[in-house]
Amino acid sequence: MDPKRAAQERFDTARDALIDLSHRIHAHPELGFEEEKASAWLCEMLTDAGFSVESGICALPTAFRARAGSGPVNVGLCAEYDSLPGIGHACGHNIIAASALGAAFAAAQVADELGLTVTVIGTPAEEVGNASGKILLLERGAFDGMHAAMMVHPAPIDMLRAKIIAASMFEVHCTGRESHASAFPELGVNAADALTIAQTALGLLRQHIRSSDRIHGIVTHGGDAPNVVPAHTSARYIVRSETLEQLTELRGKVYRCFEAGALATGARLEITGGDKPYAEMQHNETLAELYRANIKALGRSLAGAGEWETRPSGSTDMGNVSRVVPSIHPMIGIDSLPAVNHQPDFAAHCVSAPADKALRDGALAMAWTCIDLARQGVASLQSNSPEPQAK
Ligand SMILES: [Zn+2]
Ligand SMILES: [Zn+2]
Repeated sequence: MDPKRAAQERFDTARDALIDLSHRIHAHPELGFEEEKASAWLCEMLTDAGFSVESGICALPTAFRARAGSGPVNVGLCAEYDSLPGIGHACGHNIIAASALGAAFAAAQVADELGLTVTVIGTPAEEVGNASGKILLLERGAFDGMHAAMMVHPAPIDMLRAKIIAASMFEVHCTGRESHASAFPELGVNAADALTIAQTALGLLRQHIRSSDRIHGIVTHGGDAPNVVPAHTSARYIVRSETLEQLTELRGKVYRCFEAGALATGARLEITGGDKPYAEMQHNETLAELYRANIKALGRSLAGAGEWETRPSGSTDMGNVSRVVPSIHPMIGIDSLPAVNHQPDFAAHCVSAPADKALRDGALAMAWTCIDLARQGVASLQSNSPEPQAK
């Protein structure tokens, strides 16, 4: 039988279980590095499907690696399964997890015939913004020996090469001195004012940044009582730029805005995190074109993305993977408009019929891309990506 047909038949036998898995993960949202249920469910299904599974790899309890086949072409399928605080699976990582498994099951069916090693990497905590799952897994060798890596990410519409930019998340802590806000205000050092000044400075900075730069954040602690001068405040911010290099430059300017708040009020400033940023995504041309042909064969045109593919979108730690292993990160449409990622309405769309269809199409397009890669050889990946890592 044609390998792509055989892979599809294997997917079809698992389809209902994969949709059930997607919906189950969606119904039990877990935050980054706390994805105990999702990780266990995925490992269980992979074990049942005959994969050799190692859970808790690289000192990350909710990460895992699962392998089938032992061929010379080693393809990695990344499964994400973390959710967002308060709005659950509003980024649809339940679909990412289930489609990665579906692709792995389908590709494993023809692994021996085509010389494939199929590796599923369970990558926790994509949404945390710093020192995330893939970054730590990369550092600790989980991607060593892989020739290609891929995943699909749900979005309102299909996009082959979303403009995924670099990002750095950091925590800001300001420390002042408490005092009675009315009786002894002159004795207080106002740590809330330090953040107010920083936010004003950031507002002014926006005139002088690139149109593709992003600065956004929240105050996570603003004080304890209106009649006590706030002595402890904190904030969490994300800075983004088109490249890691531009990001480093912008982050310095942003840090100075926080320093301005501390200087003006006399509060002490501490910034933590920001040390392991997300890199911009480098889409491998060869893999992207193979995926394009396969997703088109499944009836998705990829037309209509228009300016969506050129405007800066989000960021992902798959960008860091793409710097080391030839990678793709296509967006798979779930027909959710006007709802977009990180909205509660989008979460509702992530278990709809189009979402279940996206799971299937994404899984098959990835499996078929693995098959094409096995047939044409990994030398074809060298066009625009770094050398694959040595085994
Ligand atoms: Zn997200
Ligand atoms: Zn996401």
